[in-house]
Amino acid sequence: MSQERRIIICGGGVIGAAIAYFLSLKGARPVVIERHEVAGAASGKSGGFLALDWCRGTPLDRLARRSFALHAELAETLGNPWGFRRLATYAGQAAEGRSAGRPARLPWLGDNVAITGQIGGPETTALVEPHAFTTGLMRASGAEVKRGTVVGLAEGGVTLEGGEIVPGDAVVIAMGPWSNFDGLPQVFGLKGHSLVFKTGDAIPAEALFLEYQEAGGEVLTPEIFPRADGTVWACAISSTAALPRDPADVAADAGAYARLEALCRSLAPALAEAPIVARQACFRPVTEDGLPLIGAVQGVDGVYVATGHSVWGMLNAPATGEAMAGLILDGAAAHVDLTPFAPGRLRRSIQ
Ligand SMILES: Cc1cc2nc3c(=O)[nH]c(=O)nc-3n(C[C@H](O)[C@H](O)[C@H](O)COP(=O)(O)OP(=O)(O)OC[C@H]3O[C@@H](n4cnc5c(N)ncnc54)[C@H](O)[C@@H]3O)c2cc1C
Repeated sequence: MSQERRIIICGGGVIGAAIAYFLSLKGARPVVIERHEVAGAASGKSGGFLALDWCRGTPLDRLARRSFALHAELAETLGNPWGFRRLATYAGQAAEGRSAGRPARLPWLGDNVAITGQIGGPETTALVEPHAFTTGLMRASGAEVKRGTVVGLAEGGVTLEGGEIVPGDAVVIAMGPWSNFDGLPQVFGLKGHSLVFKTGDAIPAEALFLEYQEAGGEVLTPEIFPRADGTVWACAISSTAALPRDPADVAADAGAYARLEALCRSLAPALAEAPIVARQACFRPVTEDGLPLIGAVQGVDGVYVATGHSVWGMLNAPATGEAMAGLILDGAAAHVDLTPFAPGRLRRSIQ
């Protein structure tokens, strides 16, 4: 009987929010413990790009396809306050300060960009504004959100910094790259920087994945996503900088924003002129084999983990949330085989 069950979710990112939402649909009571703020880490700063079939041929394929369908359903059911939009997606090449030699096929781009092909259409690629998506799902879940820093598991719950024990019938660890405790497999953080430009309606619903050669010869791979709210999100620069212990302390690498800004301004007149409304850095959660950890933690009754979604956490949150709710309340996930994501496949970290 799922009705009265109180489930503690550690971490208020998109994975925690999606688990809370699908648990609440099944009548459970989610309690989310968040150290910094809901959507305050990668889940509020990521690109929000979604693709139906870009994980084909990998163990993520089913999770991605189910999630892509659920994204459309969620937007429909919950009124779409996060600007879910379908869009066309193109690949291309660009160079700093140099014509591409032939005109760009997309009229809004500068002559240093050559489109090499269309890699997605409205049936297969879409976008959400990730902060609104995460906070919107959290709100719709009706979860109690409690500010606190989880430091470990306790008998029948979790322990917070300061010693408070929060009781629950089950515990889910969903703290992104900070999910490293109690002998779980190691989760790492890979840093990314992004800018958000206010462009109004100057740029159509056309996402770009580019190869961009800087004047110095280095090649970057920018991603440019025009959002429904009249902003454009752009990224290109990742790094292996160390993950700070406190999510509130994440900061940019020196020079990263200026380099990204120069790149973006060179791609299109509308980006050259647009004000920047956000400069942001965040860490993707990644595992040793690149696949997420989704399932029960071996040897500890009632404890589950859902993290390590790497570059596809925004896409794969809905099917992860749905599967975790099924696993916790019914003993199995109905739509996705979680075997490839079992935490027990990887060696445990030593604490
Ligand atoms: C630059 C960039 C672009 C991206 N673009 C895309 C994209 O286009 N499409 C896509 O699908 N994915 C994208 N991603 C990936 C996606 O953003 C992540 O996979 C996803 O946000 C991870 O969500 P999460 O909930 O696991 O982790 P997080 O968002 O990191 O959330 C974890 C939460 O746990 C909290 N926490 C940490 N420690 C504690 C503690 N001790 N106690 C309590 N709470 C704690 C944190 O404060 C945080 O709120 C991108 C990522 C980056 C970095």
